[in-house]
Amino acid sequence: MKDRFDRDIHYLRLSVTDKCNLRCVYCMPETGVTKLRHEDILSVDEIAEIVGAAATCGITKVRVTGGEPLVRRGIIGICEKIAQTNGISEICLTTNGILLPKFARELKSAGVNRLNISLDSLEPLTYNDITRVDALNDALVGIDVALKMGFDAIKIYAVMIGGVNDAEIRDLLDLTRKNNVNVRLIELMPIGECADWAEERFISAKSVLKLVPELREVGTDGVSKLYMLPDGLGTVGLISPISSHFCPTCNRIRVTCDGFLKPCLHSGEEINLRGLHGKELEQVLRNAIYNKPRKHELDSGEISGASRNMNAIGG
Ligand code: SAM
Ligand code: SF4
Repeated sequence: MKDRFDRDIHYLRLSVTDKCNLRCVYCMPETGVTKLRHEDILSVDEIAEIVGAAATCGITKVRVTGGEPLVRRGIIGICEKIAQTNGISEICLTTNGILLPKFARELKSAGVNRLNISLDSLEPLTYNDITRVDALNDALVGIDVALKMGFDAIKIYAVMIGGVNDAEIRDLLDLTRKNNVNVRLIELMPIGECADWAEERFISAKSVLKLVPELREVGTDGVSKLYMLPDGLGTVGLISPISSHFCPTCNRIRVTCDGFLKPCLHSGEEINLRGLHGKELEQVLRNAIYNKPRKHELDSGEISGASRNMNAIGG
């Protein structure tokens, strides 16, 4: 459905857990998070009910995220339920890839169409520095397994962090030369753990274009500007939530793993959906979608108004 600024809101990002098997420095504290109790997390039935109500409000695409969605018990059943929902035509899942060797086949059978796999570095030491876990090889095996499974699309996501992985930008983009994968470089957002990081950590999409001038612009997918290397098979996307935010074309809402609707990632506004059913649930969703904020203010040097870390919101 349209919001009051005439944007077509059809995309739900649904967090199914705040737990994770990595501890990325920009996302989670080293000690992990105070984990929500099992009963605080949306059950499979609650998820199915929310997705069903969202579909009646015009949501057609669901991204399953977290925390790490593949550590959520019953993740395959959750994906199946979403796939069986009338009106949902696309299911994507965002993962760090570590558990894909175990789950890729079942995810495909459950109806997941697309995967986003986060991979911030191809260097074992840098990967360990960022994720605080020695798991680069597992993530690479996960990507390989997923590539063989025939998903509609696989995108590799890397958050650029100045002084940490920016020297690897070319190597990451080279992945599009080897396989038909799409690589997305995303600007670090000042939210949660990295809200007060120094400016040097922030690498803009513009500086990537300076570094790799042979990137040829081929279009946009709404969120990223798309490019290709001269001999690339897949696309390169530069996502600039900070330097050139995409609020005017934003098409999404979020639901946290404990059942709060977030109309905008960077706003503290949260609406509790738990305990709502049927028409009442649908009406709350409709109101929230209609009244989605026009834009966030991160470009003016503000830190995010979000009151949670990314693992708890669902990135
Ligand atoms: N665990 C899964 C993963 O890492 O793909 C899914 C959840 S994670 C929160 C989703 C995405 O958000 C990841 O690609 C991660 O790199 C990104 N992310 C987390 N914190 C971020 C930040 N401060 N700025 C930009 N991207 C961030
Ligand atoms: Fe876990 Fe994803 Fe956050 Fe990294 S970015 S700590 S993999 S939830």
